[in-house]
Amino acid sequence: RAKAEGGSVAHGFEAAMDSWARSRRRRETDLHEAFARGELTLAYQPVLGVRSREILGFEALLRWQHSVEGAIPPSDFVPLAEETGLIVPIGAWVLRQACAEASLWADPIRVAVNLSPVQFRDPGLVATVREALALSGLAPQRLELEVTESVLLAASEANVATLHALRQLGVRIAMDDFGTGYCSLSYLQRFPFDTIKIDRSFVNRLGDDPHSTAIVRAVIGLGASLGIVTVAEGVETEAQFAHLRAEGCGEVQGYLFGRPAPAAEARRLIRREPDLAA
Ligand code: C2E
Ligand code: MG
Ligand code: MG
Ligand code: MG
Repeated sequence: RAKAEGGSVAHGFEAAMDSWARSRRRRETDLHEAFARGELTLAYQPVLGVRSREILGFEALLRWQHSVEGAIPPSDFVPLAEETGLIVPIGAWVLRQACAEASLWADPIRVAVNLSPVQFRDPGLVATVREALALSGLAPQRLELEVTESVLLAASEANVATLHALRQLGVRIAMDDFGTGYCSLSYLQRFPFDTIKIDRSFVNRLGDDPHSTAIVRAVIGLGASLGIVTVAEGVETEAQFAHLRAEGCGEVQGYLFGRPAPAAEARRLIRREPDLAA
């Protein structure tokens, strides 16, 4: 009896694994085809100066509109692209596309591009960034590359060297999602970042949770003393914005100022900018 039950549990498990593997393989093929067919797009979300409330730049964010399943969030398909290595060609496309788009914007409006740690395993990364700049004619200081703490995990001397090589091109380097890793402060010692992006999980508890409020204050203070620009991510309310302004945060990004939107919308926002600052 026990044996029979065990057998059926194992069988159920196998069936579940099977269907999981099948749907994963389908997604994988779909992503590959979507990329080949040009169905991946970029959305652009504005980043504003706290004092001026002017647009200083946009973050480029990948979008996948699946023909059957609808919009698939990057939190679902970026990990898949990372596991399959597809993030390398996709990431190269993102860089070229974002630089080409930003070259149409008023100087000095910047574009920020997210880099996956997997892209750092590609020996062609620095050349890819150089080419994206050359093809678009975008001034390097108008490109910011966002990396997460995982790029700087222990024993990643090669990644630190790559960051220095990227910086040599004249681009800016940002630490994304600051505070969510295990040892955030030590990472600031490993590489001299231009920008720290304070993670949304701290920003959306500003004012409510004394710990988050204290952490945000400390990070802004740290940025000020190290000469690093601080950007608060995920600002959704005027109260959060008022808090950040009072603490001296440099830049803000969030639904309060604009959601990620197609390139055409970003261009409209730039043209309407005097309006927005008023
Ligand atoms: P991220 O780089 O931290 O991007 C910010 C995320 O916060 C975006 O989610 C954005 O839509 C969201 N966000 C911005 N403001 C608000 C707000 O006020 N409220 C809320 N609730 N959310 C806000 P998204 O577009 O879903 O992207 C998620 C993550 O996927 C990104 O986090 C990034 O890690 C990754 N990702 C997106 N595009 C790329 C890409 O081109 N390459 C790589 N490697 N990763 C990407
Ligand atoms: Mg980012
Ligand atoms: Mg982030
Ligand atoms: Mg994030």
